[in-house]
Amino acid sequence: MATAVIRYTAAALTDRGRKRPTNEDAFGFSVEHGIYVVCDGMGGAAAGEIASSIAVDEILHQFSARRDSGEPLPKVALEAIDGANEAIFTRAQRNQRLNGMGTTLVALVAEERHAWVLNVGDSRAYRLREGRLQQVTLDHSLVEEQVRMGRMSHAEALRSPLRNVITRALGTQSSVTPDCFEMETEPGDVFMLCSDGLTRELTDRTIEALLKPNEALESRCAVLIDAAKKAGGHDNITCILVQAAA
Ligand code: CA
Repeated sequence: MATAVIRYTAAALTDRGRKRPTNEDAFGFSVEHGIYVVCDGMGGAAAGEIASSIAVDEILHQFSARRDSGEPLPKVALEAIDGANEAIFTRAQRNQRLNGMGTTLVALVAEERHAWVLNVGDSRAYRLREGRLQQVTLDHSLVEEQVRMGRMSHAEALRSPLRNVITRALGTQSSVTPDCFEMETEPGDVFMLCSDGLTRELTDRTIEALLKPNEALESRCAVLIDAAKKAGGHDNITCILVQAAA
């Protein structure tokens, strides 16, 4: 039986939001190589911007260079993430002003019917299938870990003064352990990678409703970012949408 080839298309958008003077989010993707990345940087001065852009550049570069090496794709992706971690960590060690800089990471690797999501920190991946939005990643954040252990409610987590504390980051230590989720793709699936500037402003149900209409990916990105800005736009907002089609 012939299986239809799955093709991917993508669109992305980032916005400074309404309160922050700069944009420390970064994104990048290559449909050709099947990799999509969102990073949300942190650190004083311009360090957050530097960390997130090093991460995106290194991961895209290293993954694309070794994609056809014959190694399993999740392994190639993990090694590219390691390389990015080391690049940020080394740069921070060499420069006092950049000390402690780091970034979150959420990446999608897609090939045919296989997809892998890798993440560090509280940037998220979701999948929309048949109109239903499902979160793929688990946040590496203090409050979400408390919620998962049953020690805090979702409502308390959203209000907590510790809600910004993440428990894993790229570039702050000499090594990092991302989570990796493997999935089968079906035609029609839409993956969304985003920074917390989107998910702090909009509930999953709101995002689901805004993603559902079958419009061009570019306009769906714009609609999401507009909605997050109208809801307050307290932080930088980034999203990448990736659609699978037969
Ligand atoms: Ca953020």
